[in-house]
Amino acid sequence: MTPQEKLDWLVSPEKFYPKDLCFENLRGNRGFIDAFITHVELLREFQFWEKEKIEEVQLLKLRKMVNWLFAHSKFWSDYFKKNNFTGESLDSIKQLPIITRTDLISFGDDIYVTGENENISSLHKKYTSGTSGTILKTIRDERDWVIASFPCLFRNEIFSADTLKDLFSRRSAVYLGMSGSRTTSRAFIRRLFSISDVDLDDKKTREEMYHEIQAASPAFLVGFASHISRFARYVFEGEAKLSLTAIFITGEAIALDERIFIEKTFGVPVINILSTSETEHIGFECDKNKENFHVFSDRIILETEKLSASEEGEIAITVLDFKNTPIIRYFIQDSGSILSGSCSCKSNLPLFQFKGRRDEEVVLPSGKKIRSINLNQRLFSAGFNLATEQIQIRQESLNHLKILIASKDPVAEKKETRLLLSLSELFKDEKIKVEIERVDSIPLIKERKYRVFVPLRNSEHYSDKALNS
Ligand SMILES: [Zn+2]
Repeated sequence: MTPQEKLDWLVSPEKFYPKDLCFENLRGNRGFIDAFITHVELLREFQFWEKEKIEEVQLLKLRKMVNWLFAHSKFWSDYFKKNNFTGESLDSIKQLPIITRTDLISFGDDIYVTGENENISSLHKKYTSGTSGTILKTIRDERDWVIASFPCLFRNEIFSADTLKDLFSRRSAVYLGMSGSRTTSRAFIRRLFSISDVDLDDKKTREEMYHEIQAASPAFLVGFASHISRFARYVFEGEAKLSLTAIFITGEAIALDERIFIEKTFGVPVINILSTSETEHIGFECDKNKENFHVFSDRIILETEKLSASEEGEIAITVLDFKNTPIIRYFIQDSGSILSGSCSCKSNLPLFQFKGRRDEEVVLPSGKKIRSINLNQRLFSAGFNLATEQIQIRQESLNHLKILIASKDPVAEKKETRLLLSLSELFKDEKIKVEIERVDSIPLIKERKYRVFVPLRNSEHYSDKALNS
């Protein structure tokens, strides 16, 4: 491939994949697998390109997206014009405001854009998980989504062309819990265990997992870090010997020692990718510089905006390859900072430290921790709808949880009882008091964020005045 051909490939990969790609026809699809392997090999090379060449790809993709939006969307054309933005340079995106999820929702349905031959009803709709309380609908073309998402997951050098051909020709994935990537990967899922941390302590459930992983072997295992690490403890104790290709952890930050323990137990690398529902994959944890992430610069522009001198910068993301729901300078409600200097792995992709949602866990009196994602699952199964009802679980002290509910629902009492029962199951024998309080509205953290779970350390951010207002 000539340098120009490589550039074309990276700016417009969609030109090189089969026309009829969708989630269902990926398994064993030679056209897809061949294009995919070329794409991944190019991306492995791309990360070592000079910074200027990397930015050239970004700028070409930005212009392509902006031109497309000028041609297809009155809303985005007006938005760009109002802010004097034409996409002439990467720096020029700073002329656009940074927007939050609430801003995007307030713009209404005009944010969604379709092309000439697209029909909005045939496009894939996805809803953000609701951990931050407000729910955003994103609309995507399945083919765009596959091309944006898969190369990020398999960019690591451990996947040779032969390994990829093998993994993509059969149902090779086992999911522990509901990872976001299950939608795109469903042609490869052998089994999805919809579980919470507590289910992992059940021997029968684990035996079923061992069985499915063996049947898919060498399998790739996908799950939340907390689930995988709990699962690893049993495997470490000698319950099973499993044959894996790699482990993907998603959705939450993981401590370094936890990760090393998982790698040692299973004898395969842990691939740690930072993603959000709105943006898909943002970056991957560096092998040489653990706990820091490289940006997937071929599809993402990452900025960190400091709100005040004392704070970490909040991460704003521009996605270069989603045209149906444009994500441009979007706050992902997480903080971090871009590290200067070059990384020891020699990659020229920007390296950033991600503070993330590390604090989002309930700490029990025994010291055991439960990730807040489990609370969301239980709210959902008790019948609460986070799209229409505001709920907040605050850890007041080691043995006291307070649940604030702002709901107009007259039959809410049944749901409350179900929730209390479900939580006492989750906390088992721990002595922790759970109290429900009805409120008119849920207060925001620092006037910006509404969160379903407020961990112990942050509880002081809330004033009683805000509660009664
Ligand atoms: Zn690195």
